[in-house]
Amino acid sequence: MKKTFDAAISRLGPVLDLIDVSPEVVARLSSPSLSVTVNIPVRMDDGSLRIFEGHRVQYDMTRGPAKGGIRFHPDVSLDEVTSLAFWMTVKCAVVDLPFGGGKGGIAVDPRGLSRLEIERLSRGYIRAIADLIGPENDVPAPDVNTNETIMGWMADEYAQIVRRKVPGVITGKPVALGGLPGREAATGRGALHVFGEWLSRQAIDPGSLRIAVQGFGNAGYHFARIAVENGFRVVGLSDSRGGIYSSDGLDPVKVMHHKQTRRELKAMLYCDSSVCEEAEHEKLSPEQVLEQDVDVLVLAALENQITAENAERVRARMVVEIANGPVTPEADRILADKGVTVLPDVLCNAGGVTASYFEWAQNRAGIYGDEARLAERLGKVMEGQARRVFDLAEDKQIDLRTAAYVLGVGRIADAMHATGTAEFFANGTP
Ligand code: NAD
Repeated sequence: MKKTFDAAISRLGPVLDLIDVSPEVVARLSSPSLSVTVNIPVRMDDGSLRIFEGHRVQYDMTRGPAKGGIRFHPDVSLDEVTSLAFWMTVKCAVVDLPFGGGKGGIAVDPRGLSRLEIERLSRGYIRAIADLIGPENDVPAPDVNTNETIMGWMADEYAQIVRRKVPGVITGKPVALGGLPGREAATGRGALHVFGEWLSRQAIDPGSLRIAVQGFGNAGYHFARIAVENGFRVVGLSDSRGGIYSSDGLDPVKVMHHKQTRRELKAMLYCDSSVCEEAEHEKLSPEQVLEQDVDVLVLAALENQITAENAERVRARMVVEIANGPVTPEADRILADKGVTVLPDVLCNAGGVTASYFEWAQNRAGIYGDEARLAERLGKVMEGQARRVFDLAEDKQIDLRTAAYVLGVGRIADAMHATGTAEFFANGTP
């Protein structure tokens, strides 16, 4: 079954009607250039052996090395990883990075493993795919349920295999191993740059909006935290276990403090080490958060969250996609009919890969910059490319997702055309 992938590449249809590209571009973008499935043996703490299935997909590398994260989740499948690798290909082009797209994942629930078991699994995955990756051909990074510690183990394993330090093989590493200060917050921060640019274009006052965030993990937390620091009001938050709502607004930092200590979301008035005072708030199921009466719904969990089944019940006027593929194509049509503006994933969540690009470039150059300078560069890239997408949408009278794809696929097509097509070779000598 390739349900998610078929839906993902169906997005190309309307784009190809709008730009003049060779049929070869369509053919090359319709399937991944390389997909590998590996089975990773891991010695468990109790002495038993378990085999975990993992994947790595390099979707297209015309514009540069494959780039894309590694996900640990029980639902990881080749269909999902291929879709994510396709989105990475488009995304890297939308923000004009010299990368193609890739993705990796292991079907595992890391909550059921000890730290040592996760370390062995992470190192085992790198041993399995070591021949495929490298700073010039494929550069992994963190994704759902993976973090800088895991990237550090993976970079270390790669260094042991090739018997030299190659920090540019993986991004999202700890700063002590050549990582970038501020990388962890870059996806959320980047999405806020895009969102802020859209609001100022529409002359909407950020303080007037009620925002709900689905997915209070890395990307969702930093988005909510930086949004509140900048005068936005976040009224709803959810993770896979449940959601909370308060019309007075939530403090993401305190909610995260409680989540980390007690493993549940609760609105907090204050927290002083482990002593917290609870604020008044409503408890919701994860599904209810999607249907709350808010102005903006930020999707920062997983793909296929707004579908034909629940799109009609979305009450927000704007949807910000930080997760990859959180709105299905059918749901997109329903939201469009309701007049909901969707800020698309391939633009909104590109802050993470943009920061990864800075990290990769620094590792290769051996020159390191400070966090403030990198945050400034991130803002420039995200706002600049967002303006290009918004201008295109206005000029061609198309929705923002189609505009982002027109920009990204157009850049990929330029690179493919430059390598030669049948039309070019049919026209004689250069
Ligand atoms: P994460 O694992 O840190 O967080 C995911 C969060 O979503 C967790 O809190 C989880 O509990 C929650 N969640 C899962 N199912 C849910 C549900 N049904 N309802 C509510 N919450 C639910 O992962 P992350 O790195 O923050 O990634 C989140 C999304 O953003 C993914 O789609 C990822 O591909 C995308 N993304 C992340 C980055 C990055 O740099 N982290 C970059 C680009 C895109």
